[in-house]
Order: sequence, then C-alpha cells, then structure tokens
Amino acid sequence: MDQNIGTFSLAALLPPFHEIKLPSAGFYDSEIPATVNVRALTVKELKHITANGKLDRKIFDSTIQACIKEPINVGKLTIEDYNYIVYMIRLYSNGSKVTTVKVCDNPACRNQFKFDYDISECAVVEYADRDIDKVKTVNLPRFMREHNLNINVGVKRLNRKDILAIEDTLRIQTELAAKDGQKRSVFPLIEYLKAYISTIDGFPLPVPKEQVLDILATEDAEIITTAFDDIVFGVKGTAKTDCPYCGKSNTYDIPFTDIFFL
Ligand SMILES: [Zn+2]
Repeated sequence: MDQNIGTFSLAALLPPFHEIKLPSAGFYDSEIPATVNVRALTVKELKHITANGKLDRKIFDSTIQACIKEPINVGKLTIEDYNYIVYMIRLYSNGSKVTTVKVCDNPACRNQFKFDYDISECAVVEYADRDIDKVKTVNLPRFMREHNLNINVGVKRLNRKDILAIEDTLRIQTELAAKDGQKRSVFPLIEYLKAYISTIDGFPLPVPKEQVLDILATEDAEIITTAFDDIVFGVKGTAKTDCPYCGKSNTYDIPFTDIFFL
C-alpha cells in the first residue's frame, strides 16, 4: 500500500474554482468583493439538492456556499449577485444547454411543448458602475394629494435571506390553509412590502408597519417596489423558439433563480 495515502487530501480533487465578476462589482458591501471564485457542484451535491424533484432552499444555499471559495455569507448577497452565482455554478456543473417546457404564447394554441436553449448565448450580464443603495427613502405623493400628509418610507434592498423569509412565510400560510381546509389568500406583494419597508415617517402619530400595509394603494406599492430601479445590474435573458404546433415564434424569459437546478 502507498505510504503517502495518509497525507493525500481528496478535497484537492474537487472541481476547480473559476474566478467570476459579480454584477454588483464591489459597489454593494465591503464584505462582498467584486470577484469571487466558484466551482461546479459534485454529482453528490447535485443529487442532494434535487432529491425528490424538490429544492430545499436552505440545503441549496449551504451547497452554493460550499462552491464559493471566499468566506462570504450567501444570505447577505443581493438577489442579482445570488442569481448570477447560481447561474455560473449551474454552467460549470451542467453545461450551457437547458431543456425546458413552455406553454405557447399564441392564445389560439396554448399547447405545451419542450425546447432546448443555450443559456450562455441568451444571458446578458450587466454590472453596477456606482454605489448600490441598501436603504432608500421614497415619498408617497398620493398621501399629500389626498390627505395633505408628507409620507416618507425607508425602503430596504432585499437580499437572499429576505427572499427566503418571504418564501417561508408564504409556504407556512399555504400549509395552514391546506390544514384547516380553508381557502386563504396568499398574496406575495404584501409579504414583499413588509420586507421592503424599514421606516415610515409623516403620520401625525407613529403607526405600526402592519397597519400602514392596510392602507397602501397600488400607486404607493409601485413606488416602494421600484425604489431601486435607478441602478440596473444582474443577469437576465430570453430564449426564442418556434411552437411546434402552430409555428408561432415564442419568447421565453429565462428564470435566473435556484429553480434552474430542477
Ligand atoms: Zn403554438
């Protein structure tokens, strides 16, 4: 038997790391560098995260964490960086060819069909070129117009941890509804608004966040949810395909999220 086997580290045989530039390009947080090194998933990791065709998002995130060389906290990443890292790990793990299903855009057809596309050909990455706000104050002009109140809302940029919390809440609500046989409205926008809003100023008396949510109009929600749209960074892309049933050209918006791995 080889005497050196005791000092040999199998970890050295993991897939190699590749340096990638994050869409936030170092403008978001001092803890998140402009570039990180990521590696492909091993077959075991891939099997682990897609067991039963379902994704356990906490297992998924700890696996993604293991594929990043730098000691960054995945939960603190902006959604844009998170999705980009997931996309690149998917690319290194499974290659760029993706097979998916789509319901035809043509209202007269609506048939479901399978098609292939090449993600690396369709993906467009945009990088931040200036500081990325973590919190922003927006004014809700409707309150001034209708009630003569100058309402300002502090809006927080959501990170991966916030999204996980929202998904947990929505899942629990759905489970509770199923348990007591009731139909319960699960309206994600409310949960998103709850996560977005960090402070509210301008009411004659302090008002708890939950109560403010009850009086927000669509116009107010729009201002809050688009507070960070002034700076665009991240990965997006569409794939084009022709429907095999009616021949109509279809556009598919690629979902750059963890569902890529299913
Ligand atoms: Zn069709």
